[in-house]
Amino acid sequence: MSDSADKELLQRITKLLSAGLKTVTEPIPEDNVQFDAIVAELREVDASDLEKKLVISGFLDHPVEDMRCLECMYYLNHRKWCNLPEINLPAEENWWCRLWRI
Ligand code: SF4
Repeated sequence: MSDSADKELLQRITKLLSAGLKTVTEPIPEDNVQFDAIVAELREVDASDLEKKLVISGFLDHPVEDMRCLECMYYLNHRKWCNLPEINLPAEENWWCRLWRI
C-alpha cells in the first residue's frame, strides 16, 4: 500500500473514532484462548469492512491506562501501522485496542 493510501485510511479511521464509533473494548483477553477467539472473529470479517474490524478489536483513539499502540508488539512505529495480520490497519501511537500485547 502506498504512503498516501495509508494516510487516507488513517484519516478514515480517525474520523470514525472521533465521530464516536462504539467499539467492543471488553472483555480484554486474559489468556491466549480468549485472545485467539477475538482473532478468529476478526478473520471472518471481510478485509474491506473497516468498521467491523475496528469494532471487534475494540479500537480507541486514546491510551488505556499506560497501554497504547506504541508499546504493543504488533506496532510498526516507522509506518504507524498495526501489523497484527487480522487487523493490518494504520494506527496512531497513542491509540489502543483490546488485543494490545507486549
Ligand atoms: S494490536 Fe491493538 S494495541 Fe496493538 S498495535 Fe494493533 S491496534 Fe494497537
